[in-house]
Amino acid sequence: MNRPLLFAIGLIALGSGVSPVEARGQAFEIYLIDVEGGGATLFVSPTGQTLLIDTGNGGQRAARDAGRIISAMRDASVTEIDHLITTHWHGDHYGAMQELARQVPVRHFIDHGPSVESNATVAEFLSTTYRALYQDREHTVVTPGDRIPLGRVDVRVITAAKQVIDQPLRGGGAVNPYCVDFTRQQEDNGENAQSVGIIARFGAFRVLHLGDLTANTEFELMCPRNPIGTVDLFVVTHHGQPSSNTEVVVHAIEARTAIMNNGTRKGGQPEAMQVLHSAPGLEDLWQLHFSQLSGQEYTVPGLFIANGVDDEPGTMPITPMTGPLRGLGVSPAPIHNGEAHWLKVSARADGSFTVTNNRNGFTKEYH
Ligand SMILES: [Zn+2]
Repeated sequence: MNRPLLFAIGLIALGSGVSPVEARGQAFEIYLIDVEGGGATLFVSPTGQTLLIDTGNGGQRAARDAGRIISAMRDASVTEIDHLITTHWHGDHYGAMQELARQVPVRHFIDHGPSVESNATVAEFLSTTYRALYQDREHTVVTPGDRIPLGRVDVRVITAAKQVIDQPLRGGGAVNPYCVDFTRQQEDNGENAQSVGIIARFGAFRVLHLGDLTANTEFELMCPRNPIGTVDLFVVTHHGQPSSNTEVVVHAIEARTAIMNNGTRKGGQPEAMQVLHSAPGLEDLWQLHFSQLSGQEYTVPGLFIANGVDDEPGTMPITPMTGPLRGLGVSPAPIHNGEAHWLKVSARADGSFTVTNNRNGFTKEYH
């Protein structure tokens, strides 16, 4: 075949829309973006549709976190957010929304409804900024059972506003053996328990993301019967804090891989790490940050960690360090504005997937 003819055929193929499926290599891609202990997870379907779950931190950190989300979008060759889920109204999950929406189009805003906490900053954001962002776009308050269209990826809402899905999904419905040992924690009447939680399926591959859902609502979701069955990837809940991540979820789902969106001083406490490290079937835990709260005793090999600590101690003790104090009069943790790295998952319809650490290029195949 001569060159001009090949060229012409190429043009026809382009004109008829060479499907982005081929361009993306058939993969469903997930970016766990480092927003220093906040939430920002980008889903990109094989046909290029996007779902962003949470937008990181606000205030002085908004430009940084929006920038990090946009650089992940650039890596994925996408320019718009088709759906934005804000799991709940805490500053580490909606903070950089306005800054992000100023720079890239966001088409559909999804949430659980109004905040249940009395917080003047949040109330002001919801009644002015948020309303202005969604008013000529789409806005949906979701309830469990709802579907979010994402090309060939099936996204189902399983928790929202403290309600849980009442029908088992395909592969779910068996009695959950971990329910008998569950100890109820003090009731969480705040926003974490309101988190929008989803499960996304691409062929045989399944990923679970529950936002910051806390223990008692984990129990409501998973007991007495596990409505979701098993998953391949578990995005560790609530940055890896022990007020979430009870065995009724973490052990019952038998995830092959877990990725924790922790910060240097947030998440990765010993109680949560023990549950994760003893999870049946778990091959690897990956972390967005080294956690000082884990110490060497509970941490994973550095290969699996995307970012180190900002103020590196000379030596890392075996015993975990205690978390920072919270509240008034306590000096804030240092802000890290330097280089940041994501963890990227590429999943295929046969259920196999690859995880890549953007810091060191370390990649692992899960066949
Ligand atoms: Zn959070």
